[in-house]
This record gives sequence, C-alpha cells and structure tokens, in this order.
Amino acid sequence: MFRFCRGIKNTVVRRVVTALCGLTISPLILYRVICFTIPYVEFVLTPRCNLRCEGCANLMGYYDGSEGIDEDNNLKLAKKALDNLLKISRRITTVAFTGGEPFLFDRLHEAVAYASASKRVSRITIHTNGTVVPTDENLKCLNNKKVTVEISEFPGFDTRKAVDVLRKSGIRYKKTRQKKWIDYGGIQNRGLSKSDLRRSFAECRSAECKTIFMGSLFTCPRSAHSYMLRLFDEDRAVYVNLATTPENMLKQRIKELFSTPYVEACKFCNPVWTRGDIGCTQDKKPEKQTHLLKFNNKE
Ligand code: SF4
Repeated sequence: MFRFCRGIKNTVVRRVVTALCGLTISPLILYRVICFTIPYVEFVLTPRCNLRCEGCANLMGYYDGSEGIDEDNNLKLAKKALDNLLKISRRITTVAFTGGEPFLFDRLHEAVAYASASKRVSRITIHTNGTVVPTDENLKCLNNKKVTVEISEFPGFDTRKAVDVLRKSGIRYKKTRQKKWIDYGGIQNRGLSKSDLRRSFAECRSAECKTIFMGSLFTCPRSAHSYMLRLFDEDRAVYVNLATTPENMLKQRIKELFSTPYVEACKFCNPVWTRGDIGCTQDKKPEKQTHLLKFNNKE
C-alpha cells in the first residue's frame, strides 16, 4: 500500500484511493521495466598509456601500434554507439571514458560534450592515472556538473600536478587510493574447464564494466582488448557491434551478451580465485608474445 494512503481513516476511501494510485503508477513501473536503464558503460578512447604498467589488467602493455586502431574513427563509432544505445534504453546512469590514458587523447572534449548533451546520460566519469595534465580544451570540457574525474592512485604515481590543475579549475575529482594490484596474468590460454570459466565469469567484478571499443560492446575491458589484440579468431569473439546491428535486433543481442555464461577472453585471464596482489611495477613493457597469438585458438 502507498504510504500516504495509510493515513486515510475511512476504509472505503482508502481502498479506492489505493486502487486509483495503483492504476496510475503500474504503467509507469511497466515502462521502466520495458525501457531498461543501463547502469554503467565505459568507452575506450585510446589504447595509448604513458605508464604501461606490467600486469595491467586491461593488457595495455601489449599494444604496440601495429593493431591499426584509428582513434578518430573510434570516436566517430563511439558517438554512433551511444546514439544507438540511447535508442533502446531509457537512461544510462554513468558513461565513463577510459584508455589507456584518456587525457592523451586530444579529442576527449568532443566525446565528453557529446555524451553530456544527452539528457538521458546522468553522469560522466573520466578514469585517469592522474599523471597527465589535461590540455586546454580537454580541461575546459570537464567544467560540467555531470563530469567527475576519477584518479586511480597507485604507490609511486605522482598525481600532484594534475590534481592541482583540476582543483584550481574548479573541476570535480575523486582520488581513489588503490591498495592492491590484482594479477589478471598474461595472454596465454589457461586451459580452464567450462565449469571453471563459468565460475570465474560469475565471480568476476570486471564483468560489470561493460566496455565499448571501436563501436562494439564487450562484457568487460579485458574482453575488448583481448579481441583487439587478436588473442583468438573473430568467430570466437563475443560482442555486439552497436554501429551496424539493426535497431530491431539490438536489444535482443545486448540481452544475449548480458546473459552469456562466459566469454572467450576468460580463457586468457587468471580465474578469480587465483588472483593475488602483485604490486604495481611501471615502465616494464611486456613482450608481445606473437607465438601465443597464433596458437591461442587451439583448445
Ligand atoms: S575476461 Fe572474463 S574473467 Fe577476465 S576480466 Fe573479463 S569477465 Fe573477468
């Protein structure tokens, strides 16, 4: 019963008012269920990173420029992907922009302006390592009540310069002191059984970070980057191309993606119960293990 109806002393009046309220509100509830809200989605704007930490969960150190990522085209596809997501959802609670390091991307401000122009995007977050001071235009776009800059602080990172600039410019920011550096491991196939893959995926918090890269939606950042780094064949990849999937099939394809028991990338990732804390080690670029890229497709 609605709280305010409880105060009505006359039973008949109370029942009538309750029924009328129910009739009015039910379609609204139905509308909310049908037109679903996307709680969080992150857009990778660039795979470039100034730190290239060893053990990066998102495999940034494995990019060497030979992957043919066109960042301008990625931005164009990101805008289209956002438009198409908004066609099938009522609201996106948080749109995040990540990299690599997003402040290395000169056109970050265009992405922020595009997302913030939509009334149905509630919040925008920029995930940064806090070691790159934003350039003028990228700084200006952050002065927006929807935007928060989230700085991941790891021991040894000098974030003072960037923090100072954000503070002086009146930009909202949040520093998160990361105590652990979780070991997701390298790019070899772990040979996990299907039940272990299911379990790892179900327990993996990264699977909540739905990620868009080159116009396609992936279950997590690592899945997106495993695909871009060609750790496995195209036909094994699980993603939804938001730019090309017809609108009438999009919702169904996204629901299928959200209900998948695991993705191919999980085979190339440490299972949750084995991930220890390896501490952050910067400036150590992992070798691109070309021989593994070729053979990872074999079971
Ligand atoms: S690939 Fe699978 S196990 Fe690895 S981070 Fe993504 S969801 Fe988790």
